[in-house]
Amino acid sequence: MDELLEQILAECHPYTAQGNLANYIPELAKANKNDLGIYIISSDDRIHRAGDYGKKFTIQSIVKPILLLLALMDNGIDVVREHVGVEATGKPFDAINVNEQALLSDHINPMVNMGAILMCTLIKGDTYQEKFERLLDLTRKLADNNEICLNEDVYLSEKRTGSKNRALAYMLKTYGMIQDDVEDVLDCYFRACSIQITCGDLARIGYILANHGRMPYTGERVFPAEYASFVNAILSTCGMYDGSGEFAVKVGVPAKSGVGGGIMAVVPTRMGIGIFSPALDAKGNSVAGIKALELLSEKLFLSIF
Ligand code: GLN
Repeated sequence: MDELLEQILAECHPYTAQGNLANYIPELAKANKNDLGIYIISSDDRIHRAGDYGKKFTIQSIVKPILLLLALMDNGIDVVREHVGVEATGKPFDAINVNEQALLSDHINPMVNMGAILMCTLIKGDTYQEKFERLLDLTRKLADNNEICLNEDVYLSEKRTGSKNRALAYMLKTYGMIQDDVEDVLDCYFRACSIQITCGDLARIGYILANHGRMPYTGERVFPAEYASFVNAILSTCGMYDGSGEFAVKVGVPAKSGVGGGIMAVVPTRMGIGIFSPALDAKGNSVAGIKALELLSEKLFLSIF
């Protein structure tokens, strides 16, 4: 297996040259385009890793499933469903997805920015600082890593330049879907995206989603199995944004990408996978990361379809 990973990374490395860094968040443009790392935990608790798996990067959109999980843990599926839908958007992550002049909760998917901004309001906590602290605590728990913290420079960079996200949040406010102060909600969202992690952290979180809410090694249940099914289903249809259909055909597992270059893949009952390679395609997904998952899926028959 370790040899297979080395082979796959060698084959995928040239693809890093085909992508671009996410320069719309200036701090992300400082990443090294050549980086490529992978970390796998299989359900027999074995670890396999190769390349730049130890590098730190920001979680970006991969925080969306964690935001959704916390919203589910705090409110249950029925309440969450009153606020967001589950239909794939088929649109870019920052699209202003409004139909017929009305913004309805059914149009909002928690795997794109508008839905994730809305999830921040559903997390319990007296202040948005407290809501964020609870999200950070859950991320540390799922990744079994208490050292996970905020990347302050990325957070400030996002906050300074996030006008599209402000537009999305004010749209939610206009349509009565956010009651609180929009800047407080956005601050929580920008912090959430700027949580700093590694491939190993993503692999551990993916493992729990793959194993019905149970932690590696201890088997401790962190959330009910039905939340894992709910999140994995949405990841399958919208986790890679408007690249989700192509990804389902070529790789065939629930996964979530982020513009920091990370991908978390969930292979139900079999493994959690964390990948890092910051050169992105036009949809904001890691080019070499997707290629590596394609090869891995082909070799190990990972597709669930
Ligand atoms: N923080 C990023 C944004 O809001 C997250 C988007 C992403 O990772 N696709 O634009």
